[in-house]
Formats: sequence, C-alpha cells, structure tokens
Amino acid sequence: MCHAVLESPTFFAVLMHIDEDLAEAARGEGCPACGGVLHQADYPRKPRGCPEPWRAAFATRRSFCCAQCRRRLTPRSVRFLGRRVYLGLIVVLASVRHSGHHPQADALAATLAVPIRTLRRWQTWWREQLPQTPLWCGAQGGFVPPVDLQQAPGSLLVRFLGDAADAVVALLRFLSPLTSRSCRLHEGG
Ligand SMILES: [Zn+2]
Repeated sequence: MCHAVLESPTFFAVLMHIDEDLAEAARGEGCPACGGVLHQADYPRKPRGCPEPWRAAFATRRSFCCAQCRRRLTPRSVRFLGRRVYLGLIVVLASVRHSGHHPQADALAATLAVPIRTLRRWQTWWREQLPQTPLWCGAQGGFVPPVDLQQAPGSLLVRFLGDAADAVVALLRFLSPLTSRSCRLHEGG
C-alpha cells in the first residue's frame, strides 16, 4: 500500500491542490482576530520523505500575516502535520506499518529513513496525544463502532472509504484542523 501511494504521481498533485484550496479559503475569510486583509507570508520547509519531483512544490508551507493586527494565520494543511519534518502522509503510512501487524515495518522505516525512535514518538502521539485534542473529542462520537486509537492510525484509516490513496487523503483532511495555527507574529510557526 505504502509504495503504491508514494509512487502515484496524482497523489501528490491532489495533496497540493487541497492545500491550495484550504489556503485560499482561509485567505478569503480574512484575519480571524480583526477581519483584516491577509498577506502571504509562507514558511520555507524541507520536508523529509518527499519524492524528488515534488520537493520544490512541497518546500513551502502556506501562511498569512494580517495587514492590520500583524497576527499570523497558518491555514490547515494535508501535506504538513504540524511542525514535523516528515510529510503528514509519511507519518500516517510509516505509523501504520509500525503498529505491530506488519513485519515489513523495519524495511519501510529504512526506505523512508525514519528512525525507530521517531516512529515510537509518533505512536505515542496517535495513542496518547490525539485522543486529548478538541478535534478528536468532537469527532470520536461519529465513528460507530468506536475507533480504538491504540491501533491508530490503522484503525482510523480503515474507516475512510475508497482505495488506499483516497483513504490516506481523507485521513489527512480529517487531521488537518490540527495543523492550523493563529498566533501573534514572531511567536513561531
Ligand atoms: Zn488582524
């Protein structure tokens, strides 16, 4: 599954397109604090796990700065999961393989150059930190039967419809509110 998704040329184009839509929608709404006009103020990124043809396009995280109150707004993203250096899809796919049922986990981790320590940290995030987010508290009731996050992200991924690529995109979209930030400028990003 992993390699099929990673080698699909349309998959990365879809992620790019969704992020552009999310960014334009956020810009259209204006500053959440004062309603001011948002100016583009992107962050440079060096995403790990990104195929060569997409590296340039994925080297930028869209972000805005309010012309009036100077607050920064970083819109939702399906490409970047927070400040992690790996792309969101790598966090998902490598975590699925790492969750215990896949003997290829080590091989995959080596292919993607994800250190085992990092995989364990992601596992802790899925099991212990995701359940505490407002996103999960609001959404978990919608999953019937309940999702066992101890088996996440595999247990979460199977709840989204379509082929492997569709399900990964749907999961990244589901998680994308976690990737949005609104803060004072210079607070970091
Ligand atoms: Zn503002």
